Amino acid sequence: MEENIVKTDVLIIGAGPSGLSAAIHLADLFKQNELDKQIIVVDKGQSVGSHILSGAIIKPKVFSELMPDVKKEEIPFNSKVTKDAMYMLTSRTSSFKMPFTPPYMGNQGNYVASLGEICRFLANKATEKGVEIYTGFAMSELLYDEADNVIGAKCIDTGVDHNGEKLENYVEGTGVQADITILAEGTRGSLAKQLIKKKNLHEGKNPQIYSLGCKELFSVPEGTISPGEVYNTMGFPAMQDGVFGGGFIYGLTDNRVALGLVLGLDYADPTYDIFRALQIWKTHPFVEKFVKEGKLLEYGAKTLPEGGFYSLTKYYTNGAMIVGDSAGFLAMPALKGVHLAIYSGMCAAKTALEAFKQNDFSEETLKKYKEFVEKSPIYKEMYKCRNFRQGFSKGTFAGMFNFGTQIITGGAGFCGKLSVKSDAEHTKTIADFKKTTFKQKYASYDLDKPYVFSKVDDVFYSGTLHDEEQLVHLRVKDMQKYVSENIAKYDAPCQYYCPAEVYEIHTDRNTGHKELRIHSENCVHCKTCDIKEPLQAIEWNVPNGGNGPDYKNM
Ligand code: SF4
Repeated sequence: MEENIVKTDVLIIGAGPSGLSAAIHLADLFKQNELDKQIIVVDKGQSVGSHILSGAIIKPKVFSELMPDVKKEEIPFNSKVTKDAMYMLTSRTSSFKMPFTPPYMGNQGNYVASLGEICRFLANKATEKGVEIYTGFAMSELLYDEADNVIGAKCIDTGVDHNGEKLENYVEGTGVQADITILAEGTRGSLAKQLIKKKNLHEGKNPQIYSLGCKELFSVPEGTISPGEVYNTMGFPAMQDGVFGGGFIYGLTDNRVALGLVLGLDYADPTYDIFRALQIWKTHPFVEKFVKEGKLLEYGAKTLPEGGFYSLTKYYTNGAMIVGDSAGFLAMPALKGVHLAIYSGMCAAKTALEAFKQNDFSEETLKKYKEFVEKSPIYKEMYKCRNFRQGFSKGTFAGMFNFGTQIITGGAGFCGKLSVKSDAEHTKTIADFKKTTFKQKYASYDLDKPYVFSKVDDVFYSGTLHDEEQLVHLRVKDMQKYVSENIAKYDAPCQYYCPAEVYEIHTDRNTGHKELRIHSENCVHCKTCDIKEPLQAIEWNVPNGGNGPDYKNM
């Protein structure tokens, strides 16, 4: 291993908005302070942006703080928001325009964008400043010194079979040793998860809770929607199902529309299927008019950390900092996290500069990251809605009431800090779920429409690919227990919630025995199985570098 180590000053894992903004800001700070330091960014995607998915509506102000020398016109935003409306879908056919936009959700002055395109732009800027970016490198474990301080990370070993046995072409993954490692892996980062567990960084915090967003990008006939038109929907079908969340429809240039459904994973029904809910949502006349003559261009899915202020993990430890979605920086009521991800990257960069000046990479110095965050817009935006999302875990109407009290009290509510259960704990067994399940409710729903797709169809449009020759990256911790608990009692929720048809239940015709089959090649890296599976029975691990979706404009 000693020989297979590369040394650098700063290692950033993840070329998303938080990782790239950390790199850009730190490169600028090093230059201003005449420090000659090397910054390496690695990303598991085959190219920058290939694993990036977001709505996305972006607040532009942060870009002028990150890159004061860059004019707004140079940034590849797609369109300025020209029309912003919220619709309540009251049944499967009816709707009305809400007379106001709910607090925090207004989009005046914001831009519709492809986050992948923005990241490619940021990567070019970072490269111009001397940052080295390497894509197709999957880091599978953190490196620690004798005192358990983080000292870098190691790439996944390649040339192993499905069971991890070494093959003839086995190559041990390269280690990258760094004074500071910044984890910018996005939602439920696998290294961040390891680190949080090892260092107990989540002690005393609310569990992080998530939503799953499934998004489709369509080419549509001219006149269907104008660039910059933004519609959000509440109600059908999620509200009727008792699930938190809603839909979005964004007009883009070149006669394209991006739309999707983002629903909380804290639902109880073990058969709930957000991908299918998206297809059902599209059949509502308000949504259908945007897609009925459209042609699907791309599909993808990702989870978002929605827990808010009280679910933020401790985001620094000896030798490492956590930024962006991996730490939980997202302001839920505004449905926006890109600008907070960028601010967190900038705060981590400022902290890293201090650490290099003092030549001290211990927690004692890196705790300044918290001070920078608390002085940044992150704190202001997240603190004022610190109890917002928890209320919706107790149902839509409890959530609405709680939301009202939040606004009146500036985020305090009347009960202080509200707690939540993890998303996995919310899932009930089939026996305990007393209502009609999603599976029963929509079994006979007419989905025979040209714009309604199966998961397998949509996965094709994600461009996802995985090498045959590798240790399966989706691991069931105890298959025997999985059969007796998750299949027998919960009806294997993964076969429903996975938006990429990775999990299939096979029933033996003679014995009736059920077993789980895993089509890991379909995985779009949304991490829902790692989050939502009851008893946390499934673990998502990083696959070979360059594997996974190949998003172009998501
Ligand atoms: Fe998402 Fe897990 Fe399905 Fe992959 S296997 S697409 S991470 S739910």
